Amino acid sequence: MTSGSIVEVFTSVQGEGPHVGYRQLFVRLAGCNLDCKYCDTDFRAAPTFRLEDDPGSGRFRKEANLVAPDVLVEYIARLKASDYHSVSFTGGEPLVQDAFLMEVLAAVKALGWRTYLETNGTLTTSLERLIALCDIVAMDIKLPSVTGRPLPQSHAGFLRVASAREVFVKVVVSEETSKAEIQVAARLIREVDQGIHLVIQPVTCRDRTGSIPARRILELQRTALGELKHVRVIPQTHHCAGMP
Ligand code: SF4
Repeated sequence: MTSGSIVEVFTSVQGEGPHVGYRQLFVRLAGCNLDCKYCDTDFRAAPTFRLEDDPGSGRFRKEANLVAPDVLVEYIARLKASDYHSVSFTGGEPLVQDAFLMEVLAAVKALGWRTYLETNGTLTTSLERLIALCDIVAMDIKLPSVTGRPLPQSHAGFLRVASAREVFVKVVVSEETSKAEIQVAARLIREVDQGIHLVIQPVTCRDRTGSIPARRILELQRTALGELKHVRVIPQTHHCAGMP
């Protein structure tokens, strides 16, 4: 049994991508293997994590890290899977704790939950170990204009593994994102499967305002549509509704 480091566990609605608005249980795991310029998520490991008392109440109690898989699964087992679309494992990057994640995924699937993995799309070997336990993979392609780093070489291989299950790709775009960058991302997806959905998500500023002109976003969408069948622009929505 491998213990895990958690940041928080809470109920909310999915705020990004094609499953936007569905009720999910979110399990945010600590740690990430990247260091993106626009990252606004606190994923640092700490001696305690936040566990929501009643689902959706916003009232949290502190529990100690590290956590054994069965302790987390016991909490999830008290909830009604049919009230939820799925349980979302997010981060940070959940795959940095693949051994812990694999045990939890297996147990929650046995309880009748659907599993949803939010990932930065770089840890291919870890994904291979647990892809059979994922129902939906929400994969990011990390563009250099947003991360401040070169495009990860591992994205193509990762997407190939993820395509065994339901998968969509999200790219966060900023004012600096070029059409050439979007084209590289769209071609990478097309080489795996032209039918995989691409979601363009304008970067969310800390003051929650959009900073990219609509005309620019539409240009990026048109560029991607030159390569792919399904390209949608979906901004983050949960913050608009005051949700975590
Ligand atoms: S991959 Fe996600 S969590 Fe990790 S640094 Fe980048 S934005 Fe933050």
